[in-house]
Amino acid sequence: MPRALDSNTRDALAERLRFYRDLGLTEFYRRPVEIASVETREIDAPISESVAAEELAGPNERGSVVDTKDSEVPATQPNFIGEDPTIKTRKVISAPPQIAGAVPAEDRAAALQAIREDLGDCTRCALHKGRNTIVFGVGNPAARLMFVGEGPGADEDAQGEPFVGRAGQLLNNMIAAMGLKREECYIANIVKCRPPGNRTPEPDEANTCSPFLFRQIDVVRPQVLVALGATAATYLLGARQPLAGLRGRVHAYRGMSLIVTYHPAFLLRDPRQKKEAWADLQIAMKELGLKAPAKA
Ligand code: URA
Repeated sequence: MPRALDSNTRDALAERLRFYRDLGLTEFYRRPVEIASVETREIDAPISESVAAEELAGPNERGSVVDTKDSEVPATQPNFIGEDPTIKTRKVISAPPQIAGAVPAEDRAAALQAIREDLGDCTRCALHKGRNTIVFGVGNPAARLMFVGEGPGADEDAQGEPFVGRAGQLLNNMIAAMGLKREECYIANIVKCRPPGNRTPEPDEANTCSPFLFRQIDVVRPQVLVALGATAATYLLGARQPLAGLRGRVHAYRGMSLIVTYHPAFLLRDPRQKKEAWADLQIAMKELGLKAPAKA
């Protein structure tokens, strides 16, 4: 009979699972446990409850993840990381078709402003309740290179600009290593409001917010789009797949090249993976016809 975990062990295991999720390793075997053996509680930053269930649901022929019927989900109790297998899975929605015709470069700033105005003082999903600022996106409206992260953290929420905290510093260094300046790129996130405790956005939050991002992408029309981490890759590609299988290659995407790499926050936690991320960025550079600057 499994024994109850103390809170330190539970936190350590939750952190470890988060780490694996960032690595793209998400398919874990989970043994149903008896209610008496676990102490259930909410944790601040749960691993998205829907992740495992959506992966179990598997992709349909269009590459989207389909809903699982309630009856197909085993009715067991919440486990030690707060996952409730009875929660119905939700769709990861594929991006809508690209808007016809490119917006002329000189009109892109105004087109982005129009999207910002459509977004307004958004209350479309629950994330608005905890935010200080909507973090719309920043950079060159006609950028050749665009980065998409997951969602604002505390620094971004305070300053209204994506990637301004520690992960942002690392992103700036990555951009500089490519021989570019941050201002030359466009940077945005899957969700524009900070998820509480920096948790992964829920599918309904990401699916509510991402249409605005798709419009931004279609206006900027970068030659290369870099998805930073599993959440960005999932909602851009419209299917949940392990990061490991998505990295290291070019995906044809809405008339541009999409490259998937690790999220800078993950690289801060595991700097050994920077080499892998640099290999991904070199693929992006090749697509852009860039050579790495000579070392000073
Ligand atoms: N992490 C993200 O995914 N986006 C940000 O803007 C900052 C941190």
